[in-house]
Amino acid sequence: MEARAPRGTTDILPEEARLWQKIEATVREVMRAYGYGEIRTPVFEYTELFLRGVGETTDIVEKQMYTFEDQGGRSLTLRPEGTAPVVRAFVQHRLDGRALPQKLWYAQPMFRYERPQAGRGRQFHQFGAEAIGTLDPACDVEMIAIPLEVYRRLGIQRFEVLVNSIGCEVCRPAYRAELKAWLAGRLDQLCPTCRSRYERNPLRVLDCKEERCRQATEGAPAPLDHLCDECSRHLEHVTVLLRALGIEYRMDPRLVRGLDYYTKTVFEIVTDVLGAQGTLAAGGRYDGLTAAVGGKRFPAVGFAGGMERAVLALRAAGLDEAAHLDAPDVFLVCLGKEARIEGVKIAHRLRREDIASALDYSDEFDQARSMRAQMKAAGRLGARLALILGDDELARGVASIKRLSDGEQWEVSLDGVIPAVKEQLGGGGGPF
Ligand code: ATP
Ligand code: MG
Repeated sequence: MEARAPRGTTDILPEEARLWQKIEATVREVMRAYGYGEIRTPVFEYTELFLRGVGETTDIVEKQMYTFEDQGGRSLTLRPEGTAPVVRAFVQHRLDGRALPQKLWYAQPMFRYERPQAGRGRQFHQFGAEAIGTLDPACDVEMIAIPLEVYRRLGIQRFEVLVNSIGCEVCRPAYRAELKAWLAGRLDQLCPTCRSRYERNPLRVLDCKEERCRQATEGAPAPLDHLCDECSRHLEHVTVLLRALGIEYRMDPRLVRGLDYYTKTVFEIVTDVLGAQGTLAAGGRYDGLTAAVGGKRFPAVGFAGGMERAVLALRAAGLDEAAHLDAPDVFLVCLGKEARIEGVKIAHRLRREDIASALDYSDEFDQARSMRAQMKAAGRLGARLALILGDDELARGVASIKRLSDGEQWEVSLDGVIPAVKEQLGGGGGPF
């Protein structure tokens, strides 16, 4: 049987990898501009971290984790999301001893056992940021502004920003009780998952994607109407700053995040160009998380955006021109045994000078393919110049340069090959 990649995983082939590099480069630039430092955490963590840090009533913990025991009998889990590991690192390395807030970003693979669809994989990638140690609404707004700036620089335009506040430890208990009482009379209209979750986490019912749950919860009490003074004021300040930046947003009173540790601000950036998997990025404030993983209490806020969904959005907008292979600058056509050795040497020198060079490879060390076959290969790769080396020319100490755009060809001395090639190529670099 032919080997295949596991369901829900994808290979990113070279052309598509160019698109990824472009997105990753954009993320890096934007994070730098906003003053975030990169953090890289392990691919697996102790399972306990996600039980405490993501929450036992979430989709992730209930049914999506890749959990296994290692040879030492410890339970480990492949990282399903980025926030809990970053917060763990913040606590473990006593980063609160440095300037607060600690502003950290990441772009890493995540693993969730999901039903694979377009834009929903079992191994997928997120870029995200966390600002730990501040309640400042300016940081909540940064978490929305950063992904928007990434999309703006990439040219992705069709999206909407949805904002809500889900309160805090002070105001949520009363709201929760009211929502529970409201739902109690409608339990038979909910899906089985929501019925089983209702006791432990009634807010999640508002987040359910099933149509019957959406209908049944129409008119349910909203957290927005039950915020304490502090949470109302915080939300007010977030919206003042959003308007000051000219960021259009819509209040969505039903928006609650899947993860248990969220407080106050929650938001999503959604698009209509990706079908059912329309959320490009999402995040919010999680003032209770550092304490949940065993640290002191620090208010914090973050976001995560899907890389695959950014790639899909670029493609949907026809902005995938970066998805191509880099053509070599120079193709070395080597005719004869000595010429092949000289060609390997010249390619080596050109590559050291950062000039992308390709050679015609042959299965026989001392046999070159025909000139015609090699020129065809150069054309197929889209090389700009061919450098033609024959044994006779070598004996005379020369090589020929052929400009493939117009077919013009001339001889240069072997000593002067590198500068001659450089002069022809001029200053122009790669596509970006
Ligand atoms: P959903 O409700 O779509 O399952 P979620 O609440 O699980 O989303 P988060 O955990 O907040 O999503 O993840 C943030 C972002 O990461 C999502 O908006 C999406 O862009 C991306 N993402 C999440 N899960 C996947 C996945 N399985 N495959 C690809 N991208 C994903
Ligand atoms: Mg999910």
